[in-house]
Amino acid sequence: MRKTKCPTCKKQMIPHKQSYRPFCSERCKEIDLGHWFMEDYSVPAVEITTEEQEILISEIEKKGRGFSND
Ligand SMILES: [Zn+2]
Repeated sequence: MRKTKCPTCKKQMIPHKQSYRPFCSERCKEIDLGHWFMEDYSVPAVEITTEEQEILISEIEKKGRGFSND
């Protein structure tokens, strides 16, 4: 069986056994997203709500397409 490592905590895991690919857990997924957000927004990595994440993701997507609110 192919194993993979969680990009956040580097733990080995079995991909089909988890639903947060490529992460081992929702927490690791959020931590990774947090790092991503922190680069641009300087917000706390893991204390972000789902609603805030959605807002930030949509902002990042807009930015990625060349739009900006500034
Ligand atoms: Zn992990």
